[in-house]
Amino acid sequence: MNRFAGRVVDLHCHSDRSDGILSPEALVSRAKARDVSVLALTDHDTIAGLAAAKAQAALEGMTLLNGIEFSCQWQGRGIHIVGLNFDDGDQDLLALIARQHQRRMERSAMIAEKLERAGFDNALARAKTQAGEASLGRPHFAHAMVEAGFVRSVDQAFKRYLGSGKPGDVKQVWPEFEEVVPVVRAAGGAAVVAHPLKYKMTRTKLRAMLDDFRDCGGNAMEVVSGAQRPEQTREMAQLAGRFALLSSCGSDFHMPGTQWGELGKFPALPETVTPVWSLWPSLANESKQ
Ligand SMILES: [Zn+2]
Ligand SMILES: [Zn+2]
Repeated sequence: MNRFAGRVVDLHCHSDRSDGILSPEALVSRAKARDVSVLALTDHDTIAGLAAAKAQAALEGMTLLNGIEFSCQWQGRGIHIVGLNFDDGDQDLLALIARQHQRRMERSAMIAEKLERAGFDNALARAKTQAGEASLGRPHFAHAMVEAGFVRSVDQAFKRYLGSGKPGDVKQVWPEFEEVVPVVRAAGGAAVVAHPLKYKMTRTKLRAMLDDFRDCGGNAMEVVSGAQRPEQTREMAQLAGRFALLSSCGSDFHMPGTQWGELGKFPALPETVTPVWSLWPSLANESKQ
């Protein structure tokens, strides 16, 4: 049931406006070639790719839903909250996105300062060149260090400079999800816990997190995120039922040919769950045309 009125639905993927490789246009075309007909582009903390993706989706005869993946925290842990099908002109949502961008920029400036002290000159400007239109992050510093011959590989950049406890390590502080979820809801969107199995929480913690998420207005959780085992799908479906959350599914695609999921290619949602797209009846009408 990642098929919806016969259409393949993928509600989680990334373009080069965050840490994906493909342009929004190329991403949409790739999704089309893999029979996806309802796609949400969910770049990290930015909606910069949506306009281009939407234009391409119109050319391809696909439905492109507004999407974003917010970096948040809960009890000191990093949690990703996907926002789906919101009004992208909502002022509070845009202000939240601007604050996320500001947080990234402040952290990047601190990373740059530390890397310069470690001998890597002009770190911020070099990383910005790497980032292009994407929002600046650690991978851009890593690529800049490789290009300058400061390290041999991205892996080495993280191992020696950018990883936890290394000279360029700066902890990022994100907002609590209680601050993010109501903004997504007020903008008419659905708030979805991304990839619940990737946080490496105990099941007790995971249940407590989902309970808090539902209490602050969260709608849904990703019951399917990329490739996963049947017993994982069953367990996530049970959790969704237990916390009265709707179910979402997506590939979390970042780039061709990696360990990450391919667009549209993941196990189907079990028949027993209520999919998140039950919130959007007009989408069903659209698909019947
Ligand atoms: Zn994520
Ligand atoms: Zn993601």
